Amino acid sequence: MKLETLPSPSPRTIRRAAGIRALGLILPGLGLLAWGCTGASPAPPPSILLVVIDTLRADAVSAYGNGLDTTPTFDALAEEGQLYTRAYAPSPWTVPSHASLLTGQTIEDHGVGLSGRVVLPKAARTLAERLRDRGYETAAFSENALISEDFGFSQGFDHFAVRTAEEQMAAGKKGTIDVVDELRDWLQGRDPQRPFFVFVNLYDPHEPYELRDVNPFLPAGTSTAEAKLHKAGGRTSHLICDRIPGENPLEILRGLYLGEVASADRKLAGIRAALEAQDEPNLVTVVTSDHGEHFGEHRLLDHEFSVHEEVLRVPLVVHGPSLEAGPIQAARIDEPVELRDVARTLLGWAGADTAGVGGRDLRTETVPPAPRDLIAVYSDNRMRLPPAFDRDAAREVQDFKRQGCGDADRVFGDMLAVTRYPFRVNWYARYPSEVVDLRPPAQASAPRPPPPPELIAALRAQAEQFAARARLGEDVAPEPLSPESEEALRSLGYID
Ligand SMILES: [Zn+2]
Repeated sequence: MKLETLPSPSPRTIRRAAGIRALGLILPGLGLLAWGCTGASPAPPPSILLVVIDTLRADAVSAYGNGLDTTPTFDALAEEGQLYTRAYAPSPWTVPSHASLLTGQTIEDHGVGLSGRVVLPKAARTLAERLRDRGYETAAFSENALISEDFGFSQGFDHFAVRTAEEQMAAGKKGTIDVVDELRDWLQGRDPQRPFFVFVNLYDPHEPYELRDVNPFLPAGTSTAEAKLHKAGGRTSHLICDRIPGENPLEILRGLYLGEVASADRKLAGIRAALEAQDEPNLVTVVTSDHGEHFGEHRLLDHEFSVHEEVLRVPLVVHGPSLEAGPIQAARIDEPVELRDVARTLLGWAGADTAGVGGRDLRTETVPPAPRDLIAVYSDNRMRLPPAFDRDAAREVQDFKRQGCGDADRVFGDMLAVTRYPFRVNWYARYPSEVVDLRPPAQASAPRPPPPPELIAALRAQAEQFAARARLGEDVAPEPLSPESEEALRSLGYID
């Protein structure tokens, strides 16, 4: 069993539900202008559900080619909505990616993930703040202790439910918040006259993995003892480079992971059902992830020390009532998009203020006017590495994860990826840069042309300029953290 990689996208037949087609007659733009100004409009802005399934790599999702029926709820949304085949996160880890998703800003704009900054600044104007100003009731339900007030993510939410790292550890497992129950409770007390914005982070696919009673994704014949050996306990991020597991344990880890993916998808079904019971026909649903996960590629597990495709490419589906009325007709969109585009799109849908919000409105700007380069950053700053870092130094600073790594692994120091699809330049503070070709492997019968040298030179120059502006590779003192934030980072394995 393998996580199947998605081959070049193929056309798919789209079946749209009759209800969706009927709702397509609503012209949301007209209603939005009047709502909240005169109160005379019968068509208020749509309610919005934004779900992040944390750590969900795109090819773990059935709609992206995984053949194991891992995500029936996501797939049903993709059948009726728009599936983005090349959606990219701006970083390989939770906090910077959520900062961009929830503000519409680039990493350079909000600064989270650079120079040791891991808290969203108060000055950042969030999606929730803008929607609340537009008259929305706003609520967040987070299973991830990093998506919390301590990291600046409660800005703009009337209601914010999260289990702290301490509570999760006391409960002995992750995801102790019952998202669906908490959402149902909140829905009972809300004002039905106002649209809502509900944000959810589902944490199941983030390791450590639960050992579930039923998991059809484990390799046939896997005993409970074998599965137990590879679940929880040791963090997978400690099993990299020389410690990378063999193929059989890797298959078990993949199976455990897919069991978690399926669990998150079941919660998504519960969330959708709870919202549908609200008689809310005018609902926009977006489901995505903040980053992917490695399963042995580049001798890596987990999602640290990497700007590779496996951690940057994420699933993204947009499902909503005005799709039929909008200018986007294709249901499967291959144009590369970024997580920050989601904010711009939802604000556009809501008729809310978009001043200072970058990105594209995916409903109307299907193709950017000029090629857009996608930037993703992993800053190593929080590890407080000494300037002359090496394997022995790793032991000195107790960097347990990377003690088995050598220079060929390119896991030390700041790194950045600049992508103009299908080409990418990976820039490293401590290694020479590398060119990545994201096209499917060439056939011997049809060799493909090499990447254009002038394009690669432009991407390389852009990487150098970004690195200089963001002071990548410099020894910048990290921003001080509250004890709560530090504990949350430690409990999730980001710092030792
Ligand atoms: Zn995450």
